[in-house]
Amino acid sequence: MFQGPLQESILRRAQDKGLAEIRVHDLRTWTHDRHRVVDDVPYGGGAGMVLKPEPVFEAVEALRHGPESTVVALTPQGIPFGQRLADELSRLPHLILLCGRYEGFDDRIPQGLQALELSIGDYVLSGGEVPALVVLDATIRLIPGVLGDETSALTDSFAMGLLEHPHFTRPPSFRGMGVPAVLLSGDHQAIARWRRKQALRRTRERRPDLLARTTPSDLDQELLAELDAEGVAMGGSEETTR
Ligand code: SAM
Repeated sequence: MFQGPLQESILRRAQDKGLAEIRVHDLRTWTHDRHRVVDDVPYGGGAGMVLKPEPVFEAVEALRHGPESTVVALTPQGIPFGQRLADELSRLPHLILLCGRYEGFDDRIPQGLQALELSIGDYVLSGGEVPALVVLDATIRLIPGVLGDETSALTDSFAMGLLEHPHFTRPPSFRGMGVPAVLLSGDHQAIARWRRKQALRRTRERRPDLLARTTPSDLDQELLAELDAEGVAMGGSEETTR
């Protein structure tokens, strides 16, 4: 489940550059029975199997680098993973990501290992592997030097508390749809102002909850007032190429 995503693109480049080292371990390594069993039936009955504490504790004890290791348990019951947490995790020296399966972990696992329990969203996946890859990708791309253009992570959606402005590329006219004329003007100041305004517009239209959590700068207040005057709630309008 890990080989494809870890061997491609940015995660691959981060490892090739020595900026991240990722190791995948099989919990069965830390079992002691012939069938290498990692799960057992739930106390109290009911459907499904539960991950046993012994192999998980032994795995973490073998892999931990003392206090510099942070144990993360992927679970739909965890705190919601977002850009701020990705940024915090990207500054940590060593993460151990625990992937659940079946009905999930015996509850003594996150408790006893003092794991940071993270959820990637309000839905249930079959296992923690995809959530672990989500956390890895979002986190590793923030490590300085991983992205070719350092500025791109800074302007990505959520990095500044807003959704990013829309992007356009050639051709200038496509099936009757143009490109905002300012982007072709060569006026960098006007472009930066337009982008900030569009980021505010997008965020207000699509994620007003994010906007409510940011403190708008003087320029933001001016741009928001302009959007109000333009009636952005109704969609607004702007000059485009034809
Ligand atoms: N019975 C669990 C519950 O209702 O909370 C769900 C178990 S789920 C089928 C199996 C494993 O997938 C979990 O232990 C966890 O590691 C992973 N998983 C599923 N959804 C997840 C999510 N939204 N975020 C993080 N991990 C998730």
